[in-house]
Amino acid sequence: MLKPFSKVVLSSETAEDIAVLAAEAAPREFFSFVGGKVRDGVLRLDGLYYQQYYASEQFATVFHNLPMLNDCQATVHSHPGIARPSAADLHTFGKHGLVHFIIAKPYRIVDLRCFDKQGVPLAFSIERPLRKAY
Ligand SMILES: [Zn+2]
Repeated sequence: MLKPFSKVVLSSETAEDIAVLAAEAAPREFFSFVGGKVRDGVLRLDGLYYQQYYASEQFATVFHNLPMLNDCQATVHSHPGIARPSAADLHTFGKHGLVHFIIAKPYRIVDLRCFDKQGVPLAFSIERPLRKAY
């Protein structure tokens, strides 16, 4: 399948929210859908649909059963270890969303990583939402 975008942009506000919520949720797993739109080949992500789950085994179950909102283009979840998709993550990545973020301990913005459905790392940038770069 052809990717409908060539660039991933996460708003700085959303990145900050992710870092705060992931740190607050620890040692439990933080999970959220991320809203956004593809426009002119750029996937812009700028809002969280926040969910918190208490055990990682629940992750896949909830992930499959949540109704999808139209503009949920991505997911984010936290890892206490390294920011690399697990086998379970790869299975669920294929179900919803164009890209998937993992934020690893200690849950700073620089600990965010982005992956495609296959778990291949993707470059992304963090930008202020109101900047008129496009
Ligand atoms: Zn994971």
